[in-house]
Amino acid sequence: MSSIPDLSISGVVTTSICPVRFHLEKGTGRTESWRYTAAKQISYRLGDPLDAEEIWAEVRLLQKDVDSSAFTDFAGSVRLCGSTTGWRRYREADVAVRSETHRIHGIVDKVFFDEPFFAVTRPTPAPTRGVYHADRLRVAGYAICLEEMLGIEIAGGMVEYIHSGIGRVCTLEPIDKRRFFRALQEARRITKGELPKKPLRPPCGTCPHGDRCDPTGGTRLSDLL
Ligand code: SF4
Repeated sequence: MSSIPDLSISGVVTTSICPVRFHLEKGTGRTESWRYTAAKQISYRLGDPLDAEEIWAEVRLLQKDVDSSAFTDFAGSVRLCGSTTGWRRYREADVAVRSETHRIHGIVDKVFFDEPFFAVTRPTPAPTRGVYHADRLRVAGYAICLEEMLGIEIAGGMVEYIHSGIGRVCTLEPIDKRRFFRALQEARRITKGELPKKPLRPPCGTCPHGDRCDPTGGTRLSDLL
């Protein structure tokens, strides 16, 4: 097992969305969007009174290029979160987790004293119902690590859709872990040098690599496959 490289949970989730995207992003760092920074800074304060001006000052410090016109959107997110009840104060934030068995690692946004034991903070709007497929896989990956580290069963986690002011419980089903392990195998194959398989319905419309896969731009998808 020791010769198997560790993979990040976010890399596995990316592979589940599009293996080509995982291939293109291998070895590159990701730039944090201001919406993600804002979601994180708001999330740290949940369970306490929220002061939009104060949190915005933190966001501006972390994201020097964010335009002041974004404040209206930001204040809307703070207002939505403030009108939602039931947020819990966290026990620890940004906790590094790892599974020796499965050679995966990641950072859990928040860990709590009671169930659901952890939360994932997302900068995307909430779906109409439940949580997104990719977020179920994120929860599955962190649950696998925490179960191994803490020696307890983890039934699921919270997903905080901060910009919608909504926290949703994600109770894991066996299929979520199966999907996670399938994506993990695929990510390993790509890491070892196999070319990625193109998904039947890749979400190209929301992907930042459209120009590299676009037949009219740089590397064609057909060149990769
Ligand atoms: S543009 Fe489409 S095929 Fe290419 S990496 Fe993105 S989602 Fe995948």
